[in-house]
Amino acid sequence: MRRIYCKKLLQGNLWRDDVVLSLTQQGLIRQVEKGSAQDADECIYGTTVPGMPNVHSHAFQRVLVGGTGLRGNDQSSFWSWRDAMYRCANRISPEQYSVIASWVFIQMLKAGFTSCAEFHYIHHQPDGKPYTNPAEMSEQLMAASALGGIALTLLPVFYHTADFGKVGADPAQRRFANTAQQYLQILDACQAVMSDQTLLRLGLAPHSLRAVPGQLLGEVLRAWPDKQCPVHIHIAEQRAEIEGCIASLGARPLEWLLRHFSVDQHWCLVHATHLSESELQEAAASQAVAGLCPTTEADLGDGVFETAAWLKAGGQFAIGSDSNVRISVAEELRLLEYNARLGSGQRNVLTAAGQTCGRFLYQRAAKGGGSALGQAVGSIDVGYRADLLELDTQHELLLAREPDSVLDSWIFGGDKTMINSVWVAGRRVIDRGHHMLEEKQRKLFANVMAELYSA
Ligand SMILES: [Zn+2]
Repeated sequence: MRRIYCKKLLQGNLWRDDVVLSLTQQGLIRQVEKGSAQDADECIYGTTVPGMPNVHSHAFQRVLVGGTGLRGNDQSSFWSWRDAMYRCANRISPEQYSVIASWVFIQMLKAGFTSCAEFHYIHHQPDGKPYTNPAEMSEQLMAASALGGIALTLLPVFYHTADFGKVGADPAQRRFANTAQQYLQILDACQAVMSDQTLLRLGLAPHSLRAVPGQLLGEVLRAWPDKQCPVHIHIAEQRAEIEGCIASLGARPLEWLLRHFSVDQHWCLVHATHLSESELQEAAASQAVAGLCPTTEADLGDGVFETAAWLKAGGQFAIGSDSNVRISVAEELRLLEYNARLGSGQRNVLTAAGQTCGRFLYQRAAKGGGSALGQAVGSIDVGYRADLLELDTQHELLLAREPDSVLDSWIFGGDKTMINSVWVAGRRVIDRGHHMLEEKQRKLFANVMAELYSA
């Protein structure tokens, strides 16, 4: 049984000194007890906190960074950004997809994300024909996560029609579109190759109510046998989407979803940006996780989520790097709080009385993330997987800080250079800021960028 000594550790809600974690073969925490470095196989001398789950990523969008800043004659908007994203998505081969995802997963680990929900919609060949293996592109993501060493909740996306079922998928969406039956085949093919892997979980991802008619959503949910699996959906990202939904379905998207489906803690509501008061209250009470991606939501001009009201209503939340323009745990949490400060004119808005803001945000996002990913992560305790992150207490901004202040210093003053080492299932994947395969993967990533942009 492997044993890891931690000099300072956040166990559940408590900071503890001189602790030894005993791990099972699969890297789950079997015991947490007082101990010393001599009792252990490996030692962590910085401050140890749970690794952060990333609840929303489209890894391939990393290659778009810097490519969508030109303003044309028309207004730049989410929708003009989406056109550029589609042009990119339609050029990527399976091999390129794997290289990009491997690179992005390594960057996530360096930033403190130890598990990732990949919202994956590029299923078919560029001309729209399915690959011989319906899970061809999905398998590239699984291989990439295994290579990087990050845990993955794979979310093959169900994309059926456009504009609330009024029109067929656009030609630019031909790689994404599936019938319900084709979609279930993709899920089956994924499940078949991930059955005995401890770092993989499969979930369902209806793209949005725009792209999946309610009747087909019901069909897929009834047909899929794993009733506990995560279900993620883009719910209310853009105002035009809300208006389109009211015109087509007679209700706002979340209002409609809550009325027709049993939304519970297995659901992740991604970009729940534009909610009415009653939607917010009802969704928070359902214990569905709000999947928040503040840097992407800012980049795309989506709007600001009402986090303070959501927390007051008892809602759960988690964070995602989404478009991966920024890959930073600290920055997502910082912007979440800063948005709340700018809106309220107050400080330390997203926390409870007597608790520091950084600690509160970190713990709540980690807990919500574990729930949304359907994995035993987000806390360091018996039964959880040993996904750990060591903050470098020798960093100038972390010197002589109390443990809670270490988290606040990192989130509000720091970045990934404060992260020393990272473990997934008890295996060290980032060692003093470096990933073993980083140099090799960087060269492959450079080749892909040349292929995509020099052609
Ligand atoms: Zn998304």
